[in-house]
Amino acid sequence: MPAFDHDLVIIGAGPAGLTAGLYAARARMNVLLIEKAVPGGQIIVTDWIENYPGFPEGISGFDLAEKMKIQAEALGLNMDTAEVQSLNLSPDVKEVMLQDKTITTKSLIIASGASPKKLGIGEDRYMGKGISFCATCDAPFFKEKTVVAIGGGDTAVQEAIYLTKFVKKVYLIHRRDELRATKILQERAFANDKIEILWDTIATGVDGFFGIEGVHVKHVKTGEEKTLKADGCFIWVGILPNTAFLKDAVDTDAYGFIRADAQMQTNIPGVFAAGDVRNTPLRQVSTAVGDGAIAAVSAEHYLENEFK
Ligand code: NAP
Repeated sequence: MPAFDHDLVIIGAGPAGLTAGLYAARARMNVLLIEKAVPGGQIIVTDWIENYPGFPEGISGFDLAEKMKIQAEALGLNMDTAEVQSLNLSPDVKEVMLQDKTITTKSLIIASGASPKKLGIGEDRYMGKGISFCATCDAPFFKEKTVVAIGGGDTAVQEAIYLTKFVKKVYLIHRRDELRATKILQERAFANDKIEILWDTIATGVDGFFGIEGVHVKHVKTGEEKTLKADGCFIWVGILPNTAFLKDAVDTDAYGFIRADAQMQTNIPGVFAAGDVRNTPLRQVSTAVGDGAIAAVSAEHYLENEFK
């Protein structure tokens, strides 16, 4: 039997990874959680979370992430900051390749989350100069200005409503004639005088010299094109899994999200997936937390059965 650095390695410190880490630390497993940036995942840029039970007034995403981290560390979770480059997975030993070393583990939980999708309308050039994916971070730069928000899901609608606390006007542009967002968010957006929804409309580009001055849009049914005068453009058109390091090491679906069963087990024994990176029907903090707990307990059972 080879010597292992760890019983369990967890990749990613969002709600799924931190919960898995909390459970594993309480089970007194030799666990290491690896995070490449700031713990918290996508919720650290979420203004306000009001559908996570236990916080009747709601809580900022940043504060919730901080509380999860403090709780997991207090229970004994060790965390390291590093970027996973690749994985070498076999039923016997799992190798996690970092930039400067390789660590071995008996089991692995992949909780690397997901990131905002881009539209290719100038995100790279105008990022930080008018284009943003984060209202919490950038809304204060647009006080009393006009901005465009793109998307029709929960994120776009919730964040567009948040933007109205700062800006003069939000054009919410959506490619269909019906929003995907949950009904309560739709009702709030429809009732908000600062939000004008442009239906059946897509963004085709932005222009401006130092920052954004206008967003080019096209009506998908009539073909009519025009430029909306705006100082900022927020893009919320969905998410992509953070799986660059996977390189086919585990099975994924057509969109690249990791396939895992109800025990969070992937196609490789001892490798589990949890949270937004998994092919799950719902991506919420509450579901990520549930995934993390199940993955940690599944890893514990795996270790008991395979390494007695
Ligand atoms: P989403 O639900 O996948 O919605 C993406 C939106 O962007 C859809 O309206 C989609 O249009 C549009 N879109 C996608 N590609 C596009 C393109 N190329 N051009 C123009 N529009 C495009 O993503 P999300 O809003 O980021 O939400 C992700 C997950 O987080 C969801 O499960 C959501 O429920 C959850 N979430 C929940 C809350 C909350 O409960 N408060 C808050 C934020 C996020 P179509 O509708 O036409 O497909």
